[in-house]
Amino acid sequence: MSNVLVLVDHTAGTVRKTTAELLTIARRLGEPVAVFVGEGVADALPALGQYGATKVIALSNPELTQFLVAPKAEALAQVAAKIEPSAILISSNAEGKEIAARLAVKLDSGLITDAVDVVAADGGAVTTQSVFAGNFTVQAKVTHGTPIITVKPNAATPEAAETSPEVEEFDVTISDAAKTARIVESKPREATGRPELTEAAIIVSGGRGTGGDFGPIEAFADSLGAAVGASRAAVDSGWYPHAYQVGQTGKTVSPQLYVAAGISGAIQHRAGMQTSKTIVAVNKDPEAPIFELVDFGVVGDLHKVLPTATEEVTKR
Ligand code: FAD
Repeated sequence: MSNVLVLVDHTAGTVRKTTAELLTIARRLGEPVAVFVGEGVADALPALGQYGATKVIALSNPELTQFLVAPKAEALAQVAAKIEPSAILISSNAEGKEIAARLAVKLDSGLITDAVDVVAADGGAVTTQSVFAGNFTVQAKVTHGTPIITVKPNAATPEAAETSPEVEEFDVTISDAAKTARIVESKPREATGRPELTEAAIIVSGGRGTGGDFGPIEAFADSLGAAVGASRAAVDSGWYPHAYQVGQTGKTVSPQLYVAAGISGAIQHRAGMQTSKTIVAVNKDPEAPIFELVDFGVVGDLHKVLPTATEEVTKR
């Protein structure tokens, strides 16, 4: 069976859920080989084994984490030259997409970004992408070189498949050309205690209709263990940080449940959330376009509806 490389997304050895999703997808295509960059591989091992990694390639050269993404792309190219994988899967975030693009150039290979599904078909990996603000879905396949695919969060439900992967240390050589942008300082974002927006199973988002008061949004989110999102109107008004913006120029999310409160449903907002499994809207205007795409809609004032819903959820 062919090897499928999965670049592990982690923070100091704590593996992100997106990696469990990539490993689940990789098992459809072949034998998942996890590539771990940086410190903490021992901490990551149980999670990688839980989702079926048959082997873990550890890259601990400090230059890989001292500089921005270029060294990681070089390192992955060297791993790929040795392993000759049938595909390479990387998380679709800003760093992942840049690594993937640089890697595609180095390997002279085709690249598909932002896949929302990947299956084994037609003798290889066939991806599904949602394009034109979500109005079309496209099935695609790389026809040249090693398929490099970035996969969006929540593209698959992580399925456990217990393995005991061995760790293989792999030495890489980083060129001077890749060491031109050094990381000066790296600070974690202030912890909110809520799940990461792009990984959350439930998101409660607020828009201009909040009038700048995200209290009811946060309280409802907390009652559900959800992440908080925001429309651009709310972000541009300075009511919520840009890191939480959902949409074309913000994050793309695909949770099990998306609650849009005081959001009209502009196409640019939809582009970031319309692949959510269940969509609920709270809006005082029954004609708001968001109601065209919801599974459940509540016509009402979010400042009344959300506290009532929060109280009900908290009671249970
Ligand atoms: P509005 O459109 O003003 O809607 C507010 C809604 O709240 C209304 O439907 C109103 O009925 C309702 N409301 C008011 N008061 C209450 C209340 N008390 N209770 C319940 N409902 C209430 N937008 C994004 O969100 N994300 C993006 O990434 C994004 N990218 C963009 C990129 C470009 C190039 C452009 C041109 C635009 C982009 N936009 C984006 C902006 C987008 O077009 C809309 O302007 C924006 O989404 C509107 O945000 P909103 O729904 O919060 O505000």
